[in-house]
Amino acid sequence: MSPSPLDRWITDDEVVALLGDEWARQTTTLQLIASENFASPAVLAAAGSILTNKYAEGYPGRRYYGGNQVVDEVEDLARRRLTALFGADHANVQPHSGANANVAVYEALLEPGDTILAMRLDQGGHLTHGSPASITSTFWRFVSYGVTPRSDDPAVPGEVIDFDNVRDLALAHRPRLIVAGATAYSRVIDPVPFREIADEVGAYLMFDSAHVAGLIAGGVHPSPVPYADVVTFTTHKTLRGPRGGAIVCREEHAKRIDSAVFPGQQGGPLEHVIAAKAVAFEEARQPAFADYAGRVVANARAFAAALEGQGFRLVSGGTENHMVLLDLRDFDGELTGKVAQEALDRAGITTNRNTIPDDPRSAFVTSGLRVGTAAETTAGLGEAEFAAVAGLMARALRGRDDEAVLTEVRRDVAALCAAHNPYQGFVG
Ligand SMILES: *Cc1c(COP(=O)(O)O)cnc(C)c1O
Repeated sequence: MSPSPLDRWITDDEVVALLGDEWARQTTTLQLIASENFASPAVLAAAGSILTNKYAEGYPGRRYYGGNQVVDEVEDLARRRLTALFGADHANVQPHSGANANVAVYEALLEPGDTILAMRLDQGGHLTHGSPASITSTFWRFVSYGVTPRSDDPAVPGEVIDFDNVRDLALAHRPRLIVAGATAYSRVIDPVPFREIADEVGAYLMFDSAHVAGLIAGGVHPSPVPYADVVTFTTHKTLRGPRGGAIVCREEHAKRIDSAVFPGQQGGPLEHVIAAKAVAFEEARQPAFADYAGRVVANARAFAAALEGQGFRLVSGGTENHMVLLDLRDFDGELTGKVAQEALDRAGITTNRNTIPDDPRSAFVTSGLRVGTAAETTAGLGEAEFAAVAGLMARALRGRDDEAVLTEVRRDVAALCAAHNPYQGFVG
């Protein structure tokens, strides 16, 4: 494999070879995992910068180590850009991941044993929303809301957040915190009814916008910032920054949030990643990013329509964000999410299996598949290309036992990728 042109300083032969393999994978196969994106060369470079050398426990102006004059400015720049981007009072850019950001908020606002009302995992919630497998469920008591039943009447939306259920559970369990936000949900999440229910029961509202932060920054989804006490997100999904997390909150929570991140949960911050976050926040403020966010959603809509045309059922009947959740059972009753993901992998199409609401199959097998448009929109795919990808997916899945079909699809995928390299201009 030829080395990755973006990683030219790496001299370790074994690592160079692996990065070359990964470069080839990312640029010759389609990246349809809804939580992934292609960060800009500027973001990649900042994340690989000399700031990785610095210890900086604490916050700007209040560090436990010397030599942080420059790092303070880096972190302040990131915080300033982030509060400006979302119109927030306060920002914390230190969480190493979205999961860390969520746990820090729970730690900041709650006592152990307090009740949290969040979305059920098999209905679209995240592990940190109270999965028995997550440490969150050890420390706090979770009650879970879900989505409305499936509807086959196009006039009645089904599989959308059931606000009657949210309210009933809030009144019955009096949570200290309500969590809005999801990891596998293709509709806009309106923060207003969540705020109303939180106010009715005297709960805090946290909006976990891990997936849609870029759509909010780009102005195509409503901002939860005016309504939520705290908004958490990842910087690497639709926001297209480095891998990491961040938190914005109302001024009244600032001190407790900061203390929960450090020293509550983490040691030294990753200032190289914080510099990369600053770069991404500035990129997200540009008109070109709003245009990108609009294309992500338009592409998802076109992709969803084409997938439906191929015989897949769309969970909730469609999409309003960057992702489409497919119920595979209408396409082929025998086809599981696991088998579909593996067949598509062989055809050069990278996706992830996902449970669908009330999935009769286990989380390891599933009846669903999740796809997203954030990454390949960055690479330059438009609505026509996504419609073509829907056709390629259907062809690969129908011919999943025929190596010749999978090879053919893989060839078409490679041609599409060659015409749409996300790092065009940085190659060779
Ligand atoms: C991705 C995601 C997270 C966690 O982000 P990591 O960086 O993987 O820890 C948290 N909440 C939601 C809703 C997510 O989709």
